[in-house]
Amino acid sequence: MAIIKVPFVDLTSQYQSIKPEIDKAISNVIGETAFIGGKYVREFESQFSALYGVKHCIGVGNGTDSLFIIMKMLGIGPGDEVITSAYSWISSSETITQTGAKPVFVDIDEYFNISVKLIEEKITKKTKAILPVHIHGQMCDMDAISRIAKKFNLFIIEDCAQSHFSEFKEKRAGSMGIAGSFSFYPGKNLGAYGDAGCIVTDNDSFAERCRMFANHGALKKHHHQIEGINSRLDGLQASILSAKLPYIIDWTNKRRANADHYSENLMGIPEVSTPNIRRDSLHSFHLYVIKAKNRNGLQSYLLENGIETFIHYPLALPNLECYDYLEGKNFPVATANESEILSLPMYPELELSKILYVCEKIRSFYNGQR
Ligand SMILES: *Cc1c(COP(=O)(O)O)cnc(C)c1O
Repeated sequence: MAIIKVPFVDLTSQYQSIKPEIDKAISNVIGETAFIGGKYVREFESQFSALYGVKHCIGVGNGTDSLFIIMKMLGIGPGDEVITSAYSWISSSETITQTGAKPVFVDIDEYFNISVKLIEEKITKKTKAILPVHIHGQMCDMDAISRIAKKFNLFIIEDCAQSHFSEFKEKRAGSMGIAGSFSFYPGKNLGAYGDAGCIVTDNDSFAERCRMFANHGALKKHHHQIEGINSRLDGLQASILSAKLPYIIDWTNKRRANADHYSENLMGIPEVSTPNIRRDSLHSFHLYVIKAKNRNGLQSYLLENGIETFIHYPLALPNLECYDYLEGKNFPVATANESEILSLPMYPELELSKILYVCEKIRSFYNGQR
């Protein structure tokens, strides 16, 4: 059988599908030199908050700054602790450290999310917030997290970088805590053509404080009420995001359909487990991650057959060198996953024929081994 090339993501085919809109958006911004702030940024912010069903959207430089800004504006700093998942991209924990607070990791459940059963034992007098990460596009058990946050009077800061339009009990990611943090990194479900991110919140005064901090501590030029940072969504990225926004629901549904095709066609391979889906939740499949025996062998075999895969992430956060200083590490689930997880190609434009090809190759790899 001939080798078929299956890339991990394909941002070119998405661009080709909406090229006239994107090109026009870019030339408008350049024509009006609306590079920083201004009309296109405001337009995207109001479009995104309306579509998402939140009161405020504050565009910022990226989905790492958005976490940092939220925590700074909650007054989190030295002497504080913030609880987060042992399995995420480093932004979730490095931003805690950036504020001067200490990241406190919790092992994960069978959905790759923070294990709510293990949160309470990590709470101390210093704990100020829980930072759940809706990893791969699937939301955490927000019922339990909300209950714990209420009981101990903690803020909830949702890292939604991988979970645009994900739902838990019909509530969207980012709508359940004081604020949600989104990334529009090009490969994310809603991706800009460079770095971009946003904060969503329903709280008017908190929204204003975040907006101010992200813009040198000023809401009005030269009126610096506080010292802030420079983290702004730029006009080009905002206009590109606005051009993509009308398609995002359709693209998200296509990701879900692709995931269903994978899971159906990978059934009955004892060496492979497909993603568990939480009850009452709507996954947005930023990533489709399987657990596989002899994962490295499988990954090489797939590559030989033209199929690009990645490992998100090779090490659990607490196992990274930068956290060597942490004591008493005990993250058996996140650590065991390191040698088994594999992210398969996933994007809205991925054709069924390619999904079937990937599944067939996974099957033939294990057949050859038995
Ligand atoms: C991508 C990502 C971020 C950071 O987003 P950037 O826009 O790249 O800064 C934060 N958290 C998670 C879970 C992510 O996947």
